[in-house]
Amino acid sequence: MPLNEILSAYPLVFVVIAGVVGLLIGSFLNVVIWRLPKMLEREWRVQAHDMLGLPTETPLPTYNLLLPHSQCPRCGHQIRAWENIPLLSYVCLRGRCSSCAAPISKRYPLTELACGLLSAFIAWHFGFGWPACLALVLTWGLLAMSLIDAEHQLLPDVLVLPLMWLGLIVNSFSLFVPLNEALWGAIAGYMALWSVFWLFKLLTGKDGMGHGDFKLLALFGAWGGWQILPLTLLLSSLVGAVVGVILLRVRHAKTSTPIPFGPFLAIAGWIALLWGGQITDFYWQFVGLK
Ligand SMILES: [Zn+2]
Repeated sequence: MPLNEILSAYPLVFVVIAGVVGLLIGSFLNVVIWRLPKMLEREWRVQAHDMLGLPTETPLPTYNLLLPHSQCPRCGHQIRAWENIPLLSYVCLRGRCSSCAAPISKRYPLTELACGLLSAFIAWHFGFGWPACLALVLTWGLLAMSLIDAEHQLLPDVLVLPLMWLGLIVNSFSLFVPLNEALWGAIAGYMALWSVFWLFKLLTGKDGMGHGDFKLLALFGAWGGWQILPLTLLLSSLVGAVVGVILLRVRHAKTSTPIPFGPFLAIAGWIALLWGGQITDFYWQFVGLK
C-alpha cells in the first residue's frame, strides 16, 4: 500500500506524523525566532552605515540560521545532536545546560510543544491532502512571526511576503477559495489597515500600528479570500482589547506602551481561515437573518 493511501485511509497516522514533524519544525522555529531579528538588525546597521557614508566597520563574524552552531549562552558549550531533540532533550537535561547547569528557557520546549500540537490539529482538521500540507506551512510561518512580533514589535517581510504570495499561488488552483476572491482579499486586506493607519495618523499625529500589520491582513485575504477579512478584524480587535486590559491591570503597563497587533491578527486570521464559514453562519442564525 503506498504511503499516500495509508495516510488517507488512517487519519490518525497522518495526525501523529504531522505532530512529530511539527515538533521538529518547532525546534527550527526557535532558531528562526531567536536569530532572524538579530540578522535583520545587523543587515540594517550595515545599510545605515553605507548610507551615512561612515567608514566601513570591521566585518562581523558569520551569523545566519545555520552558523554558528547553537551553544549555551553562558558557558559556550556547543549543543550536541542528542541535546537538540525537541521536548525529550529538555526533559532529560531537566531544563539545564549539560555542561554548566545554567537553566534553559522554558520558551524553547513550549514553542516546540505548541508547534507539534498545532500541526497535529491541522492534520486532523483537514485530513491528508494538499490543503493540510499548505495549511501546515502557513501555521509554522504564523507561529514564528507572532513570537517575533510579540518580542520585537517587528513582522519581518521575509516571512510575511513569501507567505502572502504562496496564498495567491495555492488559490490559483482554487485550493481554499477561487483566485479572484484571493486577489481581492489581498488588496482589500492591505487597504483596510492602511486606511485605518492614515486616518489615525491624521487625527492624532501618531503611528497606531506597523506596516507589517497591513501585509499580514493582506496575507489572510490571499489565503482565505476577502470574505474572512471582517471576521479577522473583529476577532483580532476583541482579543487585542481583552489582552490589552489585562496587561494594563496586571503589569501596570501605560496606555502608551506599544502592544504588538501582529499576534492577535495571526490568531484571528487563522481561526477565520479554519472556521470562518461556520462562525458567520452561526452569527446570522443567531440574529435571526438566516
Ligand atoms: Zn552552559
